Amino acid sequence: MIDLCTLGTGGTMPLHTRALASLYVRNGARALLVDCGEGTQVEIGRLGWGFLRIEALLLTHYHADHCSGLPGLLLALTKAGRTEPLHVWGPPDLRRVVTGLRVIAPQLGYEPVLHELPLSGGSFGAAGLRVRAFPLDHGMPCLGYRFDMDRPRAFLPERARALGIPLRAWSFLQRGETVIVDGRTWRPEQVLGEARRGISFVYATDTRPVPGIAAAGRGTQLMILEGMYGGEEDLPKALKNSHMLFRESAALAAQAGTERLLLTHFSTSLEEPEAFLDAARAVFPAADCARDGMTLTLGYPS
Ligand SMILES: [Zn+2]
Ligand SMILES: [Zn+2]
Repeated sequence: MIDLCTLGTGGTMPLHTRALASLYVRNGARALLVDCGEGTQVEIGRLGWGFLRIEALLLTHYHADHCSGLPGLLLALTKAGRTEPLHVWGPPDLRRVVTGLRVIAPQLGYEPVLHELPLSGGSFGAAGLRVRAFPLDHGMPCLGYRFDMDRPRAFLPERARALGIPLRAWSFLQRGETVIVDGRTWRPEQVLGEARRGISFVYATDTRPVPGIAAAGRGTQLMILEGMYGGEEDLPKALKNSHMLFRESAALAAQAGTERLLLTHFSTSLEEPEAFLDAARAVFPAADCARDGMTLTLGYPS
């Protein structure tokens, strides 16, 4: 089970009704953040899921609305008592950006470990999830992220009994380990069921539509994509500023065949994003607008 919270759903500038971009991803006792706009620490405090479990921060790009909350977050983690390293991932320039922001947050109780990803993205692990970064089209280095949590294969006790596997070997096999008991070798494939779909979702904002987004969304339960602009009249702005319309994000969700689309990162000009929801639902019916502090839980697909 993974819990998500769209801490802030605004783009460009914070409004008194809408905070800037950040997503809290909680995997039990572990967590990561995607992006850290100005005031993210305030939203985390309001949510109440805590600071200490946050062990990784994934930045999409270095526009201020996605990373200017970093010094405050780093200090808040120190105040919360963090001593373990914090892993920070982001596109090229990560070192320069974080070093610059650290001028005003020099003393931390832990070490931020920086992982600068190439423009093309890459794969890594964070907070117990498999993560794959993929390139977006935003006029500057920008990455989207796909998250996967594998589901262990079921242990089949009746098969273990039929094979006469001693009880003391079961827990090893259950964990996927080969075990030797009394000179006999037992392998997990002998007693584990079919591979099962795990939990997967995508986060991609600040981009024009690119095929890599739909490709990343294949087989996912959820795509969180940007809803920077609502109606067709804003297409020139979307093209000029390298953002997407509701309709364009919905088309990517439809191409991906994901189960659900959540739009976020709304322009300050969108006072009521829901007013444009029909434009998205005409293309992909299972579309919704995120709200600041909205939480949802992803379980294993049945
Ligand atoms: Zn942005
Ligand atoms: Zn941007």
